[in-house]
Amino acid sequence: MIDFLSDTVTHPTPEMRRAMAEAPVGDDVYGEDPTVNRLEAMAAERLGKEASCFMPSGTMANLTSVLTHCPRGYEVLLGDESDLYHYEAGGYSVVGGVVVHPIRTRPDGTLALSDIRAAVRDPHDPQCARAGLLCLENPHCRSGGRVLPLSYMGSVRALADELGLPIHLDGARIFNAALALGVEPAVVAGFADSVQFCLSKNLAAPVGSMVVGDAAFVADVRRLRKMLGGGMRQVGIIAAAGVVALETMVDRLADDHARARRLAEAIAEIPGIDLDLDEVQTNMVFFRVDAPGHDGRRFLAALAEQGVRMGELGHGRIRAVVHYQISDADIDVTIEVFKRTLMT
Ligand SMILES: *Cc1c(COP(=O)(O)O)cnc(C)c1O
Repeated sequence: MIDFLSDTVTHPTPEMRRAMAEAPVGDDVYGEDPTVNRLEAMAAERLGKEASCFMPSGTMANLTSVLTHCPRGYEVLLGDESDLYHYEAGGYSVVGGVVVHPIRTRPDGTLALSDIRAAVRDPHDPQCARAGLLCLENPHCRSGGRVLPLSYMGSVRALADELGLPIHLDGARIFNAALALGVEPAVVAGFADSVQFCLSKNLAAPVGSMVVGDAAFVADVRRLRKMLGGGMRQVGIIAAAGVVALETMVDRLADDHARARRLAEAIAEIPGIDLDLDEVQTNMVFFRVDAPGHDGRRFLAALAEQGVRMGELGHGRIRAVVHYQISDADIDVTIEVFKRTLMT
C-alpha cells in the first residue's frame, strides 16, 4: 500500500533500529540516561534554546508546556483550527484548570493580530479571566500544512510582548516550516518562548517529541511530565532513534516537499479535483473531490481498492501526507490511480 494517511505511519529506519539496539542507557528519571541527555542537548542546540526535555508524545509536550506557562484559571489563547484545540482531548482544562479561549483561524493558518488583541480581556475587570499564554502552530496542519511567514511571527511576538504574554509554538513539523522558509529552525523557534516538535512524524522515529525552552521552564516541564506518568527509565532505547532522526532525517525533507508539489501539480489538472496550489508549502496536499459518482468518501474507498490510502481531515477535505516511505515511483503510481479513478 502507498500510505499517505499521515507521516506518523513511518517506520524507524534500519539505522534507527541499530542505534536502538546498541544505545547506552541509564535511569532517565535520575537524569542518568546518556542517550536521552545527548538527544536533549541536540534538540536544544538545533532550536537555539537553553534546554530540552524528551516527551512520549506531542500531546504531552504541549500539555506540560501549556500548564507551565499558564496558571490555573488563566486563559490559553489558541487557534480554533489548531491541533491543541482539536486533537489533544482538552487536557490543559482537565488537568490544569486552564480556560480555553479559541481564536478564529484564517485560511492561511494565522490568527489576526486584532483578534489576538481582542481576546485579551481587561486585566482590571474582576469579572474576567486573565490571559496567560498564546499558542501558535507552524506549519499549520489543518490549514494544509501552510507555513506562517517570519514577518507574521515577528508581529505576533511584538504584540505578545506588549500584552505580556508568553508564546508556545506547536512546531510538530518545525523542520518542514524552516525548510519552506529557507531559514534555520532556530530562527522559527526564536519567536517563541517554548516549542514542541515531533520526532515521530516525518523524522520517522517510532516515538517521541521534544519540548525546548529556557532552563527554568524545562525544569518545570520535566516535573509535570513525571506528574503525568511520563517519567521513563531506560528510555535511551527510544531516544536513540530520535538522535538518528535529527542526524539523518532533517536534510532529506526537501525531497518530500518536492514530491508533494509534483503530486499536487499533477492531480490539480484532473477534472473533479479542487486543489489550491498556493496551499502546498510543505509535505501535505489538501484537496476536495467533486466529480460525477464521487464524493470524498467514495473517492477514498476507490483509492484504497487500488492500494493508495489517504484520509479525510476536517471540513470534508482529503489530505495526502508525503514522507520518506513515499518514493518518486509511488507518486507516479498515485497520479495514474487518480486519473484512472476520475477520468475513465
Ligand atoms: C501530531 C501533532 C501533535 C501531537 O503529537 P502526538 O505525538 O500525536 O501526540 C501536536 N501538534 C501538531 C500540529 C501535530 O501535527
